[in-house]
Amino acid sequence: MADRTPAQTPPEVTTEQGTMPDTPKTTATMTPARVRFDGPRPVSQDFDDIYADADGAAEAARVFLEPAAIAERTRHPGTTFTVGEFGFGTGLNFVVTAEATRCRLHFISFERHPLAYADLHRALRPWQADHTLVRPLLDAYPPLIPGWHRRLFDAGRVQLSVFFGDIEEGLADLARQQRRGVDAWFLDGFAPRKNPAMWRGELLCAMAGLSAPRASVTTFTAAGQVRRDLAAAGFEVRRVDQRPRKRHSTAAVFTGKGRTFTPPAQVAVVGAGLAGAATARALADKGIAANLVHRGEGIACGASGIPAAVLRARLSPVPTAEARLRTHAFAFAVHRCRGRDGAAANGVLQLGTAWNDAQRLREMAQAVPGEVAVLVSAASATDLAGIPVTTPGLFFPSGLTIAGAVLATDLATHPSIHLSALAAERSEAAVRATGADLDGFETLEVTRLAGQLDRFPCAVPPRLPIVGDGTIVPARDGVWAGATYEYRPWDPERATQANAARFERVIGETPGAALARFRGVRAITSDHLPVVGCEGSVWFNLGHGSHGTSTAIFAAEIIASALNGEVAPASVELLALLHPGRFRERQKRRPNPFGGGHS
Ligand code: SAM
Repeated sequence: MADRTPAQTPPEVTTEQGTMPDTPKTTATMTPARVRFDGPRPVSQDFDDIYADADGAAEAARVFLEPAAIAERTRHPGTTFTVGEFGFGTGLNFVVTAEATRCRLHFISFERHPLAYADLHRALRPWQADHTLVRPLLDAYPPLIPGWHRRLFDAGRVQLSVFFGDIEEGLADLARQQRRGVDAWFLDGFAPRKNPAMWRGELLCAMAGLSAPRASVTTFTAAGQVRRDLAAAGFEVRRVDQRPRKRHSTAAVFTGKGRTFTPPAQVAVVGAGLAGAATARALADKGIAANLVHRGEGIACGASGIPAAVLRARLSPVPTAEARLRTHAFAFAVHRCRGRDGAAANGVLQLGTAWNDAQRLREMAQAVPGEVAVLVSAASATDLAGIPVTTPGLFFPSGLTIAGAVLATDLATHPSIHLSALAAERSEAAVRATGADLDGFETLEVTRLAGQLDRFPCAVPPRLPIVGDGTIVPARDGVWAGATYEYRPWDPERATQANAARFERVIGETPGAALARFRGVRAITSDHLPVVGCEGSVWFNLGHGSHGTSTAIFAAEIIASALNGEVAPASVELLALLHPGRFRERQKRRPNPFGGGHS
């Protein structure tokens, strides 16, 4: 399983409001489904309907899997099978399907009213003993923010894409991105008379447009209107005898032409830092061989070799699309990295600064669910950090400390990843995952910025990384303090002095002489968002600045998904923020601020 350690739930800490984790939230977070429990069974109060019959797992097999012959169609490990589900609910259909399949499974689902974690936990409890995927699903359950969430299970064989939002919006985004046809549809949106919006003919037509040749449809309902609408959308419909449990359910087969897609057999990824290694791994997990190319020095020898980076989200008090993108990137990267070599799960504390005062931190906390970040009082911050803290802070309970080279090596270690020095030409498609050597890509607004970390001795190091005024990260011996932003490279001694001052501000004492130093050069862009997407025939995963631990990992999944004909873990709206073509548009109005020379 991708998750080897359980997700962290926020610990019992005192927030600025005095309670945990009920920080009032603004519109960026979603209202969870209102459920009550009838014994172990969840019942929707919004729709006055059950999520599944009492024998839920068996019902899923009987109604959704068996009439569509899912087990037979998914026997061959080398193939990919795509399921589209209306209504994710408790995820029980997902669990049962994943366990019944042996090939690569991409399970796409839509959910407008996601269950709160506590309700999901309770709803799945009866199935936990007999279904090995229940625990990993609970551990990986996404925060309740709108949009696509990607989660990987069973060593990458099973890929879940769940869209939190209305099915209409989700299907429209899927239609714009997904090039592989969907092989099987499960219609599970409560009874049609209780939730007619989920069964509209237009949605069934959109479904037809996304179908693979001979795609199946299965659903618990036998409603005549649904059968007629399926037939009108191009499906051949039949009744399925469900006696003695109920009379009938419905199954159908798509008779239209259908979508097909052939992915490349191999892709070259140029640059073996964190972005390159993560891209190669995302491709390999999807069954595409990756040729990971470096300049002779091996894995993560540039800025990605950073010994102590922090994985947390750069939050915003305003729920903008960029803030949503950063929160998604953070949540996905945590899921992808947690439990891997080079990723330590200790949470991250962000302290206020002159430019991010306590009020701003409060607003940032209000804009995200508590699983992402909570506002904590100075007293709680002190408890978390184990050193005196005098201001409130933001606590990221699932934040990680990343040892860049160790993580990149872990990601690049896969039988389908071939590491080589300078031999990219023979691969079918290429991904550039380095901000160095951008000759020929002059419209990209990318420049390079040196930085330095220093490791100082520390009698009482903090228990977790502290960010805000740069970063202070506990190490086996002392703490790493950094990083400098050097528009023109400084003398390393000057950088050490700047980092010593940072150490002093956070730890409260003057450090002894530095024990070690790390220098690197980051690639940054004119709008501080990375370059992710395709221009011409070249894909880009670069320009991550100081946030590559989240955005490079997320970008890797975006690129590998597109090359594999699959929806990205981000909507078209969010992808546009990252697209390499955005600079070209701006340069119609003003010149490239970096002069196009990528100095
Ligand atoms: N397949 C689920 C499972 O395995 O637990 C059960 C799904 S439950 C019967 C129906 C789900 O559809 C509910 O979780 C509900 O919130 C969701 N839903 C209802 N209307 C929706 C809409 N317009 N868009 C997306 N999801 C919707």
